[in-house]
Amino acid sequence: MTRTLYRGGRVFTASDPAFVESFVVDGDRIVCAGPAAGALAADEVVELGDGLVVPGFIDAHAHLLMLGDALGQVSLTDARSLGEIQRRIRAAREVSGGAVRGRGWLFDSVPGGAPTAAMLDEAVADVPVYLDANDYHSCWINSAALAELGITRETPDPVGGRIGRTPDGEPDGMLYETAAQQFAWAHRDATATDAQRDAAVERVVAAYLASGVTGAVDMAFDEYGLAAFARAAEQGAMPLRVAAHWFVGNADDDAENLAQVARAAELAATATPGVDVIGIKLILDGTIDACTAAMGAPYANGENAGPIWPTERLLPIVAAADRAGLQIAMHAIGDAASTLALDAIEHAMRVNGDRPRRHRIEHLEYAAPETATRMARLGVTASMQPVHADPAIFANWAAQLGDERVGRGFAWSEFEEAGAVLAFSTDAPTAPHEALANMYVASTRASALEPGLPAVQPHRALPLERALAHATRDAAASIGAGSDRGRIEVGCVADFAVLDAEPFAQGAEALLTARVVRTVIGGRTRFEA
Ligand SMILES: [Zn+2]
Repeated sequence: MTRTLYRGGRVFTASDPAFVESFVVDGDRIVCAGPAAGALAADEVVELGDGLVVPGFIDAHAHLLMLGDALGQVSLTDARSLGEIQRRIRAAREVSGGAVRGRGWLFDSVPGGAPTAAMLDEAVADVPVYLDANDYHSCWINSAALAELGITRETPDPVGGRIGRTPDGEPDGMLYETAAQQFAWAHRDATATDAQRDAAVERVVAAYLASGVTGAVDMAFDEYGLAAFARAAEQGAMPLRVAAHWFVGNADDDAENLAQVARAAELAATATPGVDVIGIKLILDGTIDACTAAMGAPYANGENAGPIWPTERLLPIVAAADRAGLQIAMHAIGDAASTLALDAIEHAMRVNGDRPRRHRIEHLEYAAPETATRMARLGVTASMQPVHADPAIFANWAAQLGDERVGRGFAWSEFEEAGAVLAFSTDAPTAPHEALANMYVASTRASALEPGLPAVQPHRALPLERALAHATRDAAASIGAGSDRGRIEVGCVADFAVLDAEPFAQGAEALLTARVVRTVIGGRTRFEA
C-alpha cells in the first residue's frame, strides 16, 4: 500500500480542529491529520501550495441520469427572453437529427410567464421539442411533441398533474407535475437507448469529479438507473460513491404503491453494482415557483395546491417503508407538505415502535415555524439546496407568496439552531451541480447564476465553515455514512478535493473562480486538472 503525505497547505477537516496543514493517506484511509503527519514516513509527498483541501463533496440530493442527460441538452437558464429561447432551439434543430431537447428555462423569461406550444412552433415545427423547466416540475413542448405523445383535448389529466389547456380546451403545450412525468419523461425514458444512458453516466461522473464531488445520492432512482450504473460498474467506470432512493409514485392504489416499496426493500437487501439503494423517495408536492407546492395559506393569487399524496395513501406507504428499514425521503417544499411528511413519520413511529431510522425531508423552502424543532425531535434530516435560493430565481419565488412568508424562505439556520441534521446538496439538474457555486450562495445569499445581483436576505447566509460541513460531514450523516466519510480525520476514507484558491482567506468571491485541481476517492486520484 502506498502512503502519501499531503502537506504545506490549508486543510479544512469538517472536524475538530477545523483546520490542519497536512495529512497522511495510507491505502484508502486517512491515517494521520495534523502536525504529526510530517513525521510519518511516506512513499510519496504532495505539496498542497496556496489552495485549500476540503472533504469530498457529497451531493446528497441529485438526479444523476437526468443530470448526465441535461449536460448534453440545450441549456436555457440564461436565455432570458422568448427570442433567445427560440434562437437556441432553432440552432439546435440545425445540428440535431431528431427531437430537440432543452432544459433549465425560467417562467419569467417567457411573455406573461405563460409558455405555449405556438411559441415553440414559430422556431421549430417539424420535429418534437421538449423543454424541461428549471425546476423540472413542468415541461414545455411544441405541437409536434403533443402529437408524438398523443395528447389531445380528450386526454384526461393524470392524478397529481395537469395538461395545460387553452380557454377552449385544447392542450396548450404545458405539462405540469405528473403530466410531465407520465407523458414527456416516460416517453423519453422509454425511447432512450442504453448507449444514450451510458453516455449520460459518463458525463455525470466527469462533471462531478471535476467539481470535487466524491459521492452523490440519486433522489429518484429507477430500473433504468439501476441498469446503467451496473453497466458502468462492470466496466470499472463508476468511481463515485453513489447511494439511491427508489422513486415511489402514487399509483392511487395501495397494493401498487406497496409493490414499489417492496422492490426498493429487495434492492436494499442485495448488493447492486455501482450503487447502494438505501431508501425510497416520495414527492408530496410541487414547487412554489409554479404555485404547486402545498401551502398552509394560499398564494398571492388566492389559489393553493393540495398534496400529491393524500394522507390515506401516504400513511401506509411510509409505515411499510419504515418497517422495512428503508430511509424515507419526502419532497416537501410547502409548509403543508412538510407538516404532512412529519405526520406520516410520527404515524410510522407509533405503529412500528422503537427502531433505528433516518428519514429526511427534501427542500423545506417554506416550512411552518415549529417544523425545525419537530424534525430535530424526530431525528429527521433537513435536506436543503442553497442554489435554490439564488437571487436570480428568487424574485418569481417571492412574488408567488407575496407576503411576510418570503422572509422565512430557505431558513437554513432555523434547522441548525433546532439541532436537526442539515445536509446541503444541489438537486442537479434543477440547479447547477457545481459544489463551489452552491457554497457561494450558501455563504453569501448572493447569486452564482448572475454574480452582479445584490444578495437576498444576507442575514440568512451561513459562515463558509458551516456551509462546507453541511455539504460534506452532514451529507455523509444523512445517508448513514457519517462514521467514516465526509471529514478529513483519522480513520475516515480518503475522499477529498484540492482547490486552487483559499476562500476562507480570499473571501467568498473566490468560490466563483476557484477550480478543483484534484479529486481523490478512497485514496486514488480520480481527477487532476
Ligand atoms: Zn430532486
